[in-house]
Amino acid sequence: MAKALLSRELPDIETDQIKAQRNTPLNSAREATTRDKLAQNCSTCYVTTTALSRKKERTIPEGSNLLRLNPTVKPYTNLVPSAQTKKNKQHWKRNADRKCTTCPTLEKNFDDIKHTTLSERGALKEAARCLKCADAPCQKSCPTQIDVKSFISSIATKNYYGAAKAILSDNPLGLTCGMVCPTSDLCVGGCNLHASEEGAINIGGLQHFAVDIFMKMGIPQTLDPKTKPLPLGGQQKIALIGGGPASISAACFLARLGYKDITVYEKEAYLGGLSSAEIPQYRLGFDVVQFEVGLVKNLGVKFVTGRKLSTKDITVDGLLQSGHKAVFLGIGLPEPTSVPIFKGLTPEMGFYTSKSFLPLVSKGSKKGMCACKTALPVLHGNVIVLGAGDTAFDCATSALRCGARRVYVVFRKGFGNIRAVPEEVDLAKEEKCEFMPFMSPQEVIVKDGRVAGLKFCRTEQLEDGEWIEDHEQVLKLKANFIISAFGSGLYDNEVKEAMSGVKLNRWGLPEVDSSTMQSVSNPQVFVGGDLAGVAETTVESVNDGKTAAWYMHCYLQGIPFTAPVELPKFHCPIDEVDLSVEVCGIKFENPFGLASAPPTTSTAMIRRAFQQGWGFVVTKTFGLDKDLVTNVSPRIVRGVTSGENYGPGQGCFLNIELISEKCQAYWCQSIRELKRDFPEKVIIASIMCSYNEADWTELAQKAEAAGSDALELNLSCPHGMGESGMGLACGQDPVLVKGISQWVKKAVKIPVFIKLTPNITDIVSIAMAAYEDEKIFDIEEKYNKHNDRVYARSSRRVFSDLITGQLRFIFCEKGGQFSAKVYQETVLDKHVKDLPNTLLFSGHNFVFQQDSAPAHKAKTTQAWFGRQKIDFITRRLAFLQSDP
Ligand SMILES: Cc1cc2nc3c(=O)[nH]c(=O)nc-3n(C[C@H](O)[C@H](O)[C@H](O)COP(=O)(O)OP(=O)(O)OC[C@H]3O[C@@H](n4cnc5c(N)ncnc54)[C@H](O)[C@@H]3O)c2cc1C
Ligand code: SF4
Repeated sequence: MAKALLSRELPDIETDQIKAQRNTPLNSAREATTRDKLAQNCSTCYVTTTALSRKKERTIPEGSNLLRLNPTVKPYTNLVPSAQTKKNKQHWKRNADRKCTTCPTLEKNFDDIKHTTLSERGALKEAARCLKCADAPCQKSCPTQIDVKSFISSIATKNYYGAAKAILSDNPLGLTCGMVCPTSDLCVGGCNLHASEEGAINIGGLQHFAVDIFMKMGIPQTLDPKTKPLPLGGQQKIALIGGGPASISAACFLARLGYKDITVYEKEAYLGGLSSAEIPQYRLGFDVVQFEVGLVKNLGVKFVTGRKLSTKDITVDGLLQSGHKAVFLGIGLPEPTSVPIFKGLTPEMGFYTSKSFLPLVSKGSKKGMCACKTALPVLHGNVIVLGAGDTAFDCATSALRCGARRVYVVFRKGFGNIRAVPEEVDLAKEEKCEFMPFMSPQEVIVKDGRVAGLKFCRTEQLEDGEWIEDHEQVLKLKANFIISAFGSGLYDNEVKEAMSGVKLNRWGLPEVDSSTMQSVSNPQVFVGGDLAGVAETTVESVNDGKTAAWYMHCYLQGIPFTAPVELPKFHCPIDEVDLSVEVCGIKFENPFGLASAPPTTSTAMIRRAFQQGWGFVVTKTFGLDKDLVTNVSPRIVRGVTSGENYGPGQGCFLNIELISEKCQAYWCQSIRELKRDFPEKVIIASIMCSYNEADWTELAQKAEAAGSDALELNLSCPHGMGESGMGLACGQDPVLVKGISQWVKKAVKIPVFIKLTPNITDIVSIAMAAYEDEKIFDIEEKYNKHNDRVYARSSRRVFSDLITGQLRFIFCEKGGQFSAKVYQETVLDKHVKDLPNTLLFSGHNFVFQQDSAPAHKAKTTQAWFGRQKIDFITRRLAFLQSDP
């Protein structure tokens, strides 16, 4: 009865208004609220019964239900007829409909269309996937040999300058190449992650991301002050002809080597070669070319536009006679390959070559490229693009942006013979260009003085692989425009004659030794890029320039071509910021160091750390030979600080390791050799003995005599050494600590740091004993007075003093409750970046050691500090710039 009454009395809550809106997408929160209100229009007579709830569940549209204050949970399956879903999905679809056959409207849309472009979040995630393969095939497949895993590691730790430096060091056009390199055929093609679920690393996208950030920093390239003086000086005049990637790269490396009189001559009014003239804006912006040219100009290279290699202007002979000691030819392949059937056809009639079409598109779409104010070519209707190389696909996608309604890409061979890289083909496919294989153009149909179509015959491949044209199979295709993209060459006799003295090969191109890029006929002439015949891509042209620069330098300086290559890396003001600190009278070139095991377990590891730029090391603790411990196997456990996208908190391992198993003589000899090879670096020898004055004196003096800058007395080690009466066994007793401290201070003149154990209840008495008669740690004197635990309870006060600059040195030890994570969050992230003069040491599993897996640790920690360095440098630069 009650049920019947209820169903009768209840209004139908799905009003017509709701019905009408049920399948309409919510355009705004307001609409959603309105709809929700409508859905709840029975709330005035709100009756909480199961029947009502069920009725509501059945009738309230899903979206509205979710947006309600109390959404209900459906007890039954969903059911919507497919016919209805087909209609509904049109409201929600983000991608183009499968059945859509019309080309998207792209007219005048030159926005970036690269799939590889990454946001910061995307870049960090992608960089974190890299395996940092020891024998990285990605690097080996890069024509310029960029250290791919190193720059990816830098990105992973947000050290974007570090990444850009690595890239620009080997490839001065690193941003262009990050954007346009056919990576699937180069680095990405070799990536070990190829077969993994997520696929190979997006190396191009990461490279683009890192250098793009550096570009936005607006920092110029500078000559490294450490550049070696040139044996015969750097005043020799050098001319480079052509302002494309090959010449820009060669000029950059020559300038980095120290040459002062370098001039690039370019026939056009703009620089960049095909990167400017033909690669479209939606793949490579003009600002990128300007940035890279700017970096070369920073080094004093002169660029002269409007000058042409030609019998009418510049000639190779003329340049050499006018005092140039060497000439680089990088003029590319400037003329289109002509096909007889198109003879006499003009753009006005609807015919373009890629060389007449793409530069117009670039001029009309690339802001700042030329002052000519050229408009985009205006196309309409059907456009036929002939060819299957990268150029053809650029023509096809550009045609859409110039107004074409439909674009046919027609080529002679099959899909399997397409020369363009998949990246390019895919873009054209996505934009609905039609592909027609096995077609050879035979005759242009012209009506009323305009292109009206093209006749083709079919091509076929015979059994023996030969391609033939079958004139019995023909096709006519109506078209309003034809664009031919059949490649290019050097055909202009005035240009060829201007190269007289340079032997040409059977293709009419200069004959060069492809390992040095030197002309075989004229040793003063070097050639690179498309003109030299090996390069087919920007990155290969850049590498030709790099190669030519080195061997031109050898030629000019009389260095044997077999000498080891010493091309300088990228350098800028960031590298020159003084990060040095002075502590206890010791000058540290930067405050970044590695403390103890595992990263300083051997001389070789320390050597590598110094080469990588670390400012100091604390050696793995060593003892006298009589206390030698063998079979020291590091125990490594998974860290608890994992989970971050970047920085020291990334997935990591922690280690526990005993005293060094290497003898005292090994360590003293290592310190000697390291100080000889790295006199600027600081070495703090960590030593450990049992409670015995003679032992401590002997070991401390030996370490001092070897050249240690300071000593660390390891009185903290809890791992196994306690049983030997060493480490923590001494460090727990104030009397022993005081004794050892005084013995060593008496025995040596260098600073002594006493490493205290936290594995006791009260550190204060131990700390006081350590410096009873002498002030060793500011921090301890001050904080012990307050009877605080040095590292834990007093931390807030320590940090505030750090900020006010009163305290410059903290010595941290592994602390019971004071976890690495807390330390990182409280000290490093918040304060260290503001404290250039503060040096942080740590004991086991801390700061410098918390990511302690040998390979992993050095990278993340160093790169993390790299980030701090950049933050700091950026502030300093800002300060310098604001200083009148
Ligand atoms: C449409 C198109 C798309 C491409 N897409 C890609 C891509 O996505 N990825 C990729 O890696 N590569 C691509 N390439 C290839 C790449 O652009 C070239 O390999 C590279 O630009 C060659 O560099 P270069 O310095 O040898 O010559 P160019 O880039 O051709 O530069 C030569 C320069 O010399 C100037 N010059 C010519 N003649 C004279 C003269 N007589 N006197 C003075 N100056 C002269 C020219 O104006 C030009 O500035 C593409 C090429 C084209 C045509
Ligand atoms: S091959 Fe791939 S995974 Fe390995 S280092 Fe190179 S980019 Fe990283």
